[in-house]
Amino acid sequence: MVDYKRRINELPKGSQILHEPLLNKGTGFTVREREELNLKGLLPPTVLTIEEQKARIMKNFHAKQDDLEKYIFMIALQDRNETLFYRTVIDEIETMMPILYTPVVGKACQQYGHIFRRPRGLFISATDRGNINTILRNWPNPHVDVIVVTDGERILGLGDLGAHGMGIPVGKLSLYTACAGIDPARCLPIMLDIGTDNEELHKDPLYIGIPQRRLRGSKYDDFIDEFMNEVKSVFPDALIQFEDFANINAARLLNKYRNDFRMFNDDIQGTAAVTLAGLLASQRITHRKLQDERLMFYGAGTAGIGIAQLFVSALQKNGFSEDEAQRKCWFIDSQGLVVKERKRLTESKMPFAHHHSPMHNMLGIINTIKPTALIGVSGQPQSFSQPVLEAMARNNDRPIVFPLSNPTSMSECTAEQAYSWTDGRCIFASGSPFEPVTVNGKTFVPGQGNNAYIFPGVGLGVVVSRSYVVPDTMFLTAAETLSAMVTDESISSGQIYPPLASIREVSKNIAVAVARQAESDGLMDSVIPDNLNQHIDKYLYKAVYTDYT
Ligand code: NAD
Repeated sequence: MVDYKRRINELPKGSQILHEPLLNKGTGFTVREREELNLKGLLPPTVLTIEEQKARIMKNFHAKQDDLEKYIFMIALQDRNETLFYRTVIDEIETMMPILYTPVVGKACQQYGHIFRRPRGLFISATDRGNINTILRNWPNPHVDVIVVTDGERILGLGDLGAHGMGIPVGKLSLYTACAGIDPARCLPIMLDIGTDNEELHKDPLYIGIPQRRLRGSKYDDFIDEFMNEVKSVFPDALIQFEDFANINAARLLNKYRNDFRMFNDDIQGTAAVTLAGLLASQRITHRKLQDERLMFYGAGTAGIGIAQLFVSALQKNGFSEDEAQRKCWFIDSQGLVVKERKRLTESKMPFAHHHSPMHNMLGIINTIKPTALIGVSGQPQSFSQPVLEAMARNNDRPIVFPLSNPTSMSECTAEQAYSWTDGRCIFASGSPFEPVTVNGKTFVPGQGNNAYIFPGVGLGVVVSRSYVVPDTMFLTAAETLSAMVTDESISSGQIYPPLASIREVSKNIAVAVARQAESDGLMDSVIPDNLNQHIDKYLYKAVYTDYT
């Protein structure tokens, strides 16, 4: 691992240390460090503090007119000086989150080959089958705590972006460090470049992946099997987060590996937890109980089914039977209302297919089933029409409207539409951020059901406890912890998530709860230390310059 406290004579010297982003301080090197590290003359003479450097970064950042330029600028900083990058991201999280994550990271992935500057993480290609162990060992740090891996097939709601999806693992791991204090030296982004079925990318001369069709069937499964087993052997402590795999693989791979590997799928479990947290916090506004909700999911894929399953677990914990809980969840997919009477239902939809005549029109469905909450996970922009949202407002005093599809361009409705078409009565959270809106003279601050409230904290809890596996109950715990952190003041202004500025505190609280659960569920070798909070504090990466002298 990178030992930030290494003695000065063990550090790389001269221009070499300037090219080590984890060690470099740029103009932040002190006079004495410059002398001892042979840096004199290689830097302009003025020594700046990290705060002064950050002020310069923010000035340049705000001068960029275009969000993609801001993304490129920040990634370039990450490639030069990670301490300054994280100092900036941590202090300016509200500004940085939409750039390094949805929506701008989506744009960056669409352009990845064109804006490519410097590789980050590992690219493992279909042609590397049989050789994955060697590639993993090429990674310079043998101590890895968290891996985020994708095969690029369902990047946000943007579809198959092949190897250009690498922006997602890179971005998510930046959030692990910024939001939960995981040491960046112990984070590893991985792209499984098993081809792409996106013909446009095959034709693009600047595509960075292998321009061939995706591996499918047993070839795909064998490749993933080799990857998982080699990760376990090379990085035995690592937590593996699956990210943006397509519907056909996401739940299947989760079910295959969840009992034998320290892994989870953020699109299923992280999304479920952040949405459940939103529903739990909404109770304080609606004065309805969780069991009073009738959820209508628009989209019956990875995210929707995951949310419904965790909602069912939450109700079971409250004493309801699985069947009773499932009957409170309804789904609409591309063929209309998901009903038992439909032929050829996929296995994941079956528990949520109820006896009902087939229906196709969304407004008709809303008026018939009368849901209390409408959750968009379809990737179909503008699908929550004015009549649909007006019907939600007619049927409920406080309708819940969560258009979760990402990025912003894919959202089922905008915040402004949701508030104005429900007379300002809806409880709103979206997948990508929206600016505050004023409707009938009242200003609303839209919430964001951002997975970053969940996965960094769960990951930190798993890393510090070394839990063997990551069960669903940890996500239930995370959802409860997150919703309990929403203050009365936030609730009174309609907010169902804590401010992003408090995300490090949120992650730590989730980590503490998750680690304690690992212990009580018997999922770890050791025992949790009495002073768990201090134990976690000691582990946390802090974006400050080490004095090398
Ligand atoms: P998916 O491909 O697994 O599922 C999409 C579902 O939408 C499928 O069931 C499909 O049948 C359905 N669908 C497609 N067209 C439809 C139509 N016209 N009418 C009704 N249903 C239709 O994708 P997913 O992983 O479930 O993700 C869906 C969306 O949710 C994406 O945009 C993703 O970015 C977003 N998402 C947001 C968050 C978050 O904000 N926290 C987390 C995860 C996923």
